[in-house]
Amino acid sequence: MGRGSKRMSAVAAKAWRVRVDTGICQGHSVCMAEAPEIFEVEDVGEFYPIARVLQARIGEDLIEQARTAERYCPNRAIKVEEIAEDGEIEKPKEEEKP
Ligand code: SF4
Repeated sequence: MGRGSKRMSAVAAKAWRVRVDTGICQGHSVCMAEAPEIFEVEDVGEFYPIARVLQARIGEDLIEQARTAERYCPNRAIKVEEIAEDGEIEKPKEEEKP
């Protein structure tokens, strides 16, 4: 075992927070199809079914599915934000304004 292997094990695992804005969710279920481990869509007796987040904190094993659901949600109701090592949510990079 080389000297570098100890240093590698000290690196903290990355984590992300997943949220759904239930005010704009319309129950399309794209999220559940893309990431069934993270989202469940349930009938709550309102106009539309609503997505519920099953795992609000995810790791690298689920980030691709979460990002796909975020990208293809027709209402843009899903937010996936990286959690920094200090527990704070990473600020998204400024998008260029036209
Ligand atoms: S795809 Fe978006 S709008 Fe549709 S149920 Fe999921 S979070 Fe709600």
